Amino acid sequence: MVKRVLVADDSKLNVAMITDILHNQGYEVFSVNSGIEVVETVYRLKPDIILLDLIMPGKDGFTVCSELKCNADLRNIPVIIVTARTEARYLKMALEIGAFDYIKKPVDAIEVTARIKSALRYKEYQDRLEEMAMKDGLTGLYNHALLIDLLTKEHSKQTRKGGSLSFVMLDIDFFKKVNDTYGHLQGNEVLKGMAKVMLSCIRDSDVAGRYGGEEFGLILPEISKDKVLMICERMRRRIALYPFELDGKSINITVSIGACFKPKDINVDYNEMIRLADCALYNVKHSGRNNVSIFEAVDESTDNADVEKEDNCS
Ligand code: GH3
Ligand code: MG
Ligand code: MG
Repeated sequence: MVKRVLVADDSKLNVAMITDILHNQGYEVFSVNSGIEVVETVYRLKPDIILLDLIMPGKDGFTVCSELKCNADLRNIPVIIVTARTEARYLKMALEIGAFDYIKKPVDAIEVTARIKSALRYKEYQDRLEEMAMKDGLTGLYNHALLIDLLTKEHSKQTRKGGSLSFVMLDIDFFKKVNDTYGHLQGNEVLKGMAKVMLSCIRDSDVAGRYGGEEFGLILPEISKDKVLMICERMRRRIALYPFELDGKSINITVSIGACFKPKDINVDYNEMIRLADCALYNVKHSGRNNVSIFEAVDESTDNADVEKEDNCS
C-alpha cells in the first residue's frame, strides 16, 4: 500500500523540495504551512509518518510534536523533525518529547528516504506487537485482557452517561467431545468459525472477545433488553444452523448464552455484570444447553440488591 507522508513546513520551497523527492520514491505526500493545522490534518488524513519543521508561525514544531505524542489516537505515528537548527540541545529536546528522528536542512534525497524507511519499519513492528498484545491469535477477536479492559471503559462511559450496557457470555456446548472426536486442530477451526458467525450478528460499535478456552464475551452498549435478547437468540440460531466442516463432514454445534443487561441509570459494578452473565450461562447449561438466558442488573445501592443477587444465581 502507498504510504502517506504529511510535511509541515512554513517554507513553500522546502515543502516543494521534499514533496518532489518523496513523490519520486512512490509516497503520497500532503502538506501544511503552519503548526496550527497539523493535529487536525493528521486526524483527517491519517498519514503514516509526519515530517515536522521546528520554526513555524503560530505553533512551533516542539509544541506540535508534544501535542501529537500526548494524544492517544495519534502518538504512534512517527514524527521526524526537519530543521536548520542543528545544535545538539535541539536534537536532544526533540527526541525527549517523542520525535523518532531528526534531519538537518537542506535535506538530502538519499538521507530523507532512508530515514523515512527506517521509521516506517519501526512503526510496522510496533503495530504488529500492539496487535499481538490485543488480539487472540487463533480467532482474531480481542483477547481476555483487552475484552475486560474495553468492558471497564465502556462501563465507565455508560455509568457517566446513564446509558444501558450489556455483557454477554457464550460457551460452546460439549466442545470437549468435538476435540475428542475430530482432534484439537479441527476444534480450532470450530473456534475460528464461531468467531466469524458471532461477528456477523453484532454492530461495528459492539465488541467481541475470546473470554478463554471455548468461551466468548460480547459488549453491547446502548441497546434495549429486548434487542439484546434478539441478538443473542439470532446468534444462537445462526450457530446451530452453521455447517461446520470437520473431516469433510458437515457438523452442527450449539452454544449456550448468558447475558447481563444493565438498564439506563442503574449503577452496578462491571464485575457484577460479568458474574450475572456467568450465572445466566450456568443456568442455561443446567437446563439443557442451546439456549439464551438474561439477567437484569439492579441498582447496587437499593435494599433489594442482595436479595436479587441471591435469587439470580442458584
Ligand atoms: P459444556 O457443554 O458443559 O460447556 O461442555 P464442554 O465440553 O464444552 O466444556 P468443558 O469445559 O468440559 O471443555 C472445554 C474444552 O474446550 C476442553 C478444552 O480442551 C477445549 N479447549 C479450550 N481451548 C481450546 C482451544 O484453543 N482449542 C481447542 N481445540 N480446544 C480448546
Ligand atoms: Mg463448553
Ligand atoms: Mg467452558
